[in-house]
Amino acid sequence: MNFSELTALETGELIRLRKMSVTEAVTSALDAAEALNPKLNSFITICREKALKRAAEVQKRITDGTLSSPLAGVPVAVKDNICTEGIRTTCASKMLENFVPFYSATAVERLERAGAVIIGKLNMDEFAMGSTSETSYFGPVRNPHDISRTPGGSSGGCAAAVASGIVSGTLGSDTGGSVRQPAGCCGVTGFKPTYGAVSRYGLIAYASSLDQIGPVCGDAADCAAFTDAVCGRDERDSTSRDMFSGSLLSSLTGDVKGLRIGVLKESLASDKVDFEVSAKVAEVIKEFEKAGAVIKKVSFPYFDEAFSAYYTIAMAEASSNLARFDGVKYGFRAADYEDLNDLYCSSRSEGFGEEVKKRILLGTTILSGGYYDAYYLKAMKWREIIKAELNKIFSETDLLLTPTAPETAPLSGRSVSDPVSVYYSDIYTVLANLAGLPSVSFPCGTDRNGMPVGAQFTGRAADDGRVLNAVHAFQLMTDYHKLKADLNIQNGCTGQSDAQAGNSPCYQEKQGVEKTYEI
Ligand code: GLN
Repeated sequence: MNFSELTALETGELIRLRKMSVTEAVTSALDAAEALNPKLNSFITICREKALKRAAEVQKRITDGTLSSPLAGVPVAVKDNICTEGIRTTCASKMLENFVPFYSATAVERLERAGAVIIGKLNMDEFAMGSTSETSYFGPVRNPHDISRTPGGSSGGCAAAVASGIVSGTLGSDTGGSVRQPAGCCGVTGFKPTYGAVSRYGLIAYASSLDQIGPVCGDAADCAAFTDAVCGRDERDSTSRDMFSGSLLSSLTGDVKGLRIGVLKESLASDKVDFEVSAKVAEVIKEFEKAGAVIKKVSFPYFDEAFSAYYTIAMAEASSNLARFDGVKYGFRAADYEDLNDLYCSSRSEGFGEEVKKRILLGTTILSGGYYDAYYLKAMKWREIIKAELNKIFSETDLLLTPTAPETAPLSGRSVSDPVSVYYSDIYTVLANLAGLPSVSFPCGTDRNGMPVGAQFTGRAADDGRVLNAVHAFQLMTDYHKLKADLNIQNGCTGQSDAQAGNSPCYQEKQGVEKTYEI
């Protein structure tokens, strides 16, 4: 049996029907993770012993009939900023290199209660800050479709592990697009639920008013099953609530007749969006028209403001959240220091990477006297304007369609050589975080280099079922989500910088049509 081609729900079903054992499924995922990690670096920690022990326990409960959920026995992996009891949780930082939590995040507890088996912790940008998964203390993650490219970020390990068939589902986190943007870059499906749908207890905070745990899986049905397993009110997170009346899985009817889809003019007919990305998203529109959806052109004039407001708020909140890593309470402590002040300074200087330090410095400046009104308050005002503008759009449409990002997966090294263009890849994803809305990225084809293109649906708050159902309908009509990375054709390639890439034997950038798409 080819385990790597099964969805999580298919694996769960085969296990329930006794056609596969939990140990078989988990061993296969562990073997794949270990074999592919030298190439992809998608895992920071692989926990073979723990996973096999748990597989036996779960199998026993399935056999004696006390566990029958759709994800029972399914091997999964979790982004390394989500706490797992007894398994180190590093946030891809030297600061937490040896941190072993004594509790699990609520989402992890619930996923395990549903019978999923965690095989390891996934690589990411340090403290989830980035869009390429290159800022990890444990080295960059590589895109399984072309290892000279990044997998997007910050949940790049999640997307790479699913795209390469190691596991069928993962939990990531999305503050400004970190579940959706890598899903787009790797040709998988990434879902950010409505803010508050999934408890953030045990998610190591980046920017608390924007952070949300969400699944990265092969398709919308698996995303629904993962979200069903982890969502709902949790006493330990006061912003969480019971949001959905039925299960998300049961809202996947595949019927999109009469669904009103708003297409953002600015996101398709723009010189900032790669022509091929616009063209693929335009084909999505055609599929939905054929299926009976109603397409409306809508306009959102505030992309630049949203982008600036996001980075201002995210950095401000990050500077406050990361103040707890001081070398005293837990985490990395510098070996040499003279006094308490020096202990703080040295521990933070040595424990954090460059990107994290940059954001703490900018965030601290934004929140300090004299700058607070000019930057932070202004960004908060823009956040309200953006929410109101999106509400207006949703008064006449049910879903908003955009590309997930203006271009496909960037070459490795871009976050250093051109950081602003990397920040810019979040331009379409940050809206959902600023407004707390559900949003999903799904694959809709490939570009001239064979790299996946992602399209994104965003919906009204708590309308997560409709958002996922639209993708489910698309995945019933097309096969783009079934495209798996062919890792065999890339032997000999190593992750490399833009400058090196041209000399690589397996890197071939073909010239594309330079023109904007018109709708
Ligand atoms: N790329 C964005 C940032 O660096 C989003 C990251 C995220 O969603 N965690 O802030």
